Amino acid sequence: MGWASWFNVSGGRAALGSPVSVIARNPDHLDLFVTGTDGGIYSTWWDASSGWASWFPVSGGRAALGSPITVVARNPNHLDLFVVGTDGGVYSTWWDAASGWASWFQVSGGRAALGSRVEVVARNPDHLDLFVTGTDCGIYSTWWDAASGWASWFQVSGGRAALGSPITAIARNPNHLDLFVTGTDGRIFSTWWDAASGWASWFQVSGGRAHLGAPITAIARNPNHLDLFVTGTDGRIYSTWWDAASGWASWFNVAGGAAAPRSRINVVARNPNHLDLFVTGTDGRIYSTWWDAASGWGTWFNVSGGAAALASPIDVVARYPDHLDLFVTGTDGRIYSTWWHQTEALRVHVKILSEPTSVTRAQMVQSMQDVYRTAGIDVFVASTESLDLPLLNDLDVGGCTAGSTTTEQNQLFANRNNAAADDLCVYFVRSTVPPLNGCAAHPNNVWAAVVTSVASRWTMGHESGHVLGLPHVAPTDRLMMGGGTWNITNPPPDLIQAEMDTMLAHPTVR
Ligand SMILES: [Zn+2]
Repeated sequence: MGWASWFNVSGGRAALGSPVSVIARNPDHLDLFVTGTDGGIYSTWWDASSGWASWFPVSGGRAALGSPITVVARNPNHLDLFVVGTDGGVYSTWWDAASGWASWFQVSGGRAALGSRVEVVARNPDHLDLFVTGTDCGIYSTWWDAASGWASWFQVSGGRAALGSPITAIARNPNHLDLFVTGTDGRIFSTWWDAASGWASWFQVSGGRAHLGAPITAIARNPNHLDLFVTGTDGRIYSTWWDAASGWASWFNVAGGAAAPRSRINVVARNPNHLDLFVTGTDGRIYSTWWDAASGWGTWFNVSGGAAALASPIDVVARYPDHLDLFVTGTDGRIYSTWWHQTEALRVHVKILSEPTSVTRAQMVQSMQDVYRTAGIDVFVASTESLDLPLLNDLDVGGCTAGSTTTEQNQLFANRNNAAADDLCVYFVRSTVPPLNGCAAHPNNVWAAVVTSVASRWTMGHESGHVLGLPHVAPTDRLMMGGGTWNITNPPPDLIQAEMDTMLAHPTVR
């Protein structure tokens, strides 16, 4: 399906140019963090089973407008956050699946310029390393270890940078760190730490230079290779690489790209042989290019018409090798997202009058996702909405015949908040009259189905299959078996190729 349209994330807003931090604790979950327009630190999340949640303040935290929030997941059930607070202290909080959000605390008395980025890396699940440019322009580090707690801050090999300069740190393997920064003279410097040898001296990377405070982006596609990206002093986008076999290469301009001074280039490696780059260009439009081991660098292109204030960073995450999620504060101060997907997607909007009682809605969504993925179709819950429509909760479906709907069905299916014309709406009702697990009869080109409270885990996928053009079949190990989905044998049920072809050709699948 390629690139989706940009959409506003749960009504979120931030100061122009504010970074939106994203992390995927697991492939079906995203957590976002941003400093809001009132200086509060906010979060929201997206889950494949429920869609986007509302923004909420994180433990009362505050920071200067536009301050970056850094986040790391040491394990899938734990998040650690870092930010420079309104008093210049370096603060942290954490979220744990078992205990929820903790209070903010200052990290070992650390301080930095307002709006500074606190760099964090988890070399292993029980260890964090932090890096920041201090208020005296020294480059400082501290660490946390599960066994010993927080250490004191120390200056890294005498390093210095302009006030507020971001430090980039990357762990190519659990016993090695590589650091990058634009120094006080505009030269691009690196140092490393190795468990065997400790900290090395700073050295200039291939003669590279950038504006003071320019962020250096680094990524390790594999443990023996680094790729760096920076906006140079001439406003052009440069890259170099380090390989264990050949050392550092010369800097080169990436496909003619350019950006405002100090623009952060965001990069993701969906797989070890592919890079995707994102940046706000000199015309304020959002651009991407890619590198592939097989074909080299592609041409820059504008992403779905997106635009942002000059130098706005575009945060990106690859939840799966065939999926990218992008986040940015747009030109109107609203927080936007889009995604790219290599295969096809079915956007589902969940409308709840009554929750199912036999299996959970999340189990039903997951079961549908599992079966549809076999057809190369990813089911996305694009929105979830509760509907207060008691008169339609026991829905008259008449004969539940394809192409024929009752007045009550027509009334219910008129509720399509958030849904595009070719999106599917699934309505969870208490029951149908007559009683069924669900019903897929819908008006022409109004893609809708109902699922009742007594439905099985396969009903949502089965009724959606009807909407996508599939008829009943006899074999009991198929999703579309006509004898009631409670009687499916050999789960998960199958789709055959002819059914997959029909589904992929449907306008809701794109
Ligand atoms: Zn059916």
